[in-house]
Amino acid sequence: MHKLIYTIIGGWVMSHLLWLGIIGTSSDLSRTGNSLFMILGAVLSTIMLVAAARRHPNRPITQRLFLLLLFGNMSLAMGETAELIVSQQHLERSGMFDGIDLIFSLQIGFYLLAFCYFLISRRSEVNLRFFLFDELIILIVTGAISWHYLVTPYLEQAELFSMETLLLLRYPLGDLLLLGGMLILFFGVMKRGNSIPLLMILIGFHLQLIADLLYVILDRTSFPISLMWLDPIWIATVLLIGGAGLLFDVDERPIGFNVNRRILDGIRLVTPYVFLLILFVTMARQAVSWNGLTIGLMIAIPLLISRQVRIVMDNQRLRENLEAKVEERTAALEQALEEMEHMAYHDALTNLPNRYLFARLFKEELRRAEIHQRFVGLFFIDIDHFKQVNDTYGHQIGDQLIIDIANRLEKKLPHNTVISRQGGDEFVLLLFDVKDESDIEACGRQLVQLFERPFILKDTPVFMTASIGGAVYPTHATSRTALIEQADVAMYEAKRRGKNQFHVEV
Ligand code: GH3
Ligand code: MG
Repeated sequence: MHKLIYTIIGGWVMSHLLWLGIIGTSSDLSRTGNSLFMILGAVLSTIMLVAAARRHPNRPITQRLFLLLLFGNMSLAMGETAELIVSQQHLERSGMFDGIDLIFSLQIGFYLLAFCYFLISRRSEVNLRFFLFDELIILIVTGAISWHYLVTPYLEQAELFSMETLLLLRYPLGDLLLLGGMLILFFGVMKRGNSIPLLMILIGFHLQLIADLLYVILDRTSFPISLMWLDPIWIATVLLIGGAGLLFDVDERPIGFNVNRRILDGIRLVTPYVFLLILFVTMARQAVSWNGLTIGLMIAIPLLISRQVRIVMDNQRLRENLEAKVEERTAALEQALEEMEHMAYHDALTNLPNRYLFARLFKEELRRAEIHQRFVGLFFIDIDHFKQVNDTYGHQIGDQLIIDIANRLEKKLPHNTVISRQGGDEFVLLLFDVKDESDIEACGRQLVQLFERPFILKDTPVFMTASIGGAVYPTHATSRTALIEQADVAMYEAKRRGKNQFHVEV
């Protein structure tokens, strides 16, 4: 899936570049081909987003997100189509901001909307207040620096703040907004996966920012390069967004991007400060005059920034310690709770289900048997002459014998059984999901046979026997209590008839 998407995107952009390289950028044919690459590329990305939305049928938020991105792609496709028609009919585009510009602007508008929607829908995972502050700092710093170093030198000083230039800047400014936000999202705000789709979108917005800045520069100056060369970059962004949609929340494998969470958190934390520092250093390098005040400021600001970072890091460490402690306590509590629950439902000596758990399982199996028209066998097992073991070997060895008996029963009996210790030397056994009633009789006989091999007590083989009474659902009774009574009576009958046998009423 990943490879296919990368191949489609790479293939499309390469073909587009090849087209421009081979056919050139000046003929009508090249212009038409270029427009078709753009329009069809946007359509392809739209198809990817539709497929992505269909993949999450029960998640309206994700679907709406893809819909907004899809509108962005459609705006690009529509703008390109309009431009193609205008050029085919040799019509003149009017002045500075016409309908086509508006359609193109809608693209970034929809992307921004999608981004805001994504953010708001994940409010619980994202600390929105800090996020917006961080984003604003990054935006101001990158905006100021790129304006100063990239835009200004290429523009005529006189036109710098002309309406036309400012209007053109809406593209790079929108990109910057998106880019800063995506960077922060990527570097730690998101607790969940999706690092690959986010990375794709990040790369896309980077490309778009570069293309938009180049557009402003090329449009305002007379570089002998056709603006058409920027088109493959724009379409790469659009396709990357479509591809990211397809990979959104698909089995997340951080391919080659397995960076420690702490490092990501750290990067996220210092990012705004680093940006601030860059702006500060840039400004310091251009300081007009050095006097006591500027030197004081030069020293104070870095100190202030490092103090701020320290405080934030201390807070973070404190929070992490607290979280770790809470996690540890919660885990200990959960374990204690689990142990208590186990104790409440199991026999302490043999670890078999106790009478409460057995009663619950018995009830469930009876209900299932009623639905599926099956037989259920209930067996009462009482060890014969158990007192003698206690008297001869002591109570402790008696206990060991009970454990050995439980283990043997558990090991040798089929899977459709539940064994429980009721107390003393008495066990009950449930044989459920039985299709053939004669299987119950066979199980009773098998139980007697299980005692034929001796148990080893203090290195001495000791032969034990058991008296076993059986009752069958629904042959003897249908209620739990009636079946228990029946099996109990049958067990006493087995004792009365001389022990070491299985008895069931026929
Ligand atoms: P019968 O053949 O009629 O079954 O006689 P029995 O000696 O097995 O005695 P019965 O089943 O009536 O009573 C069970 C005896 O098992 C009573 C008690 O001495 C002993 N017992 C009960 N609970 C425990 C236990 O947890 N550990 C040990 N070691 N012995 C127990
Ligand atoms: Mg007994």
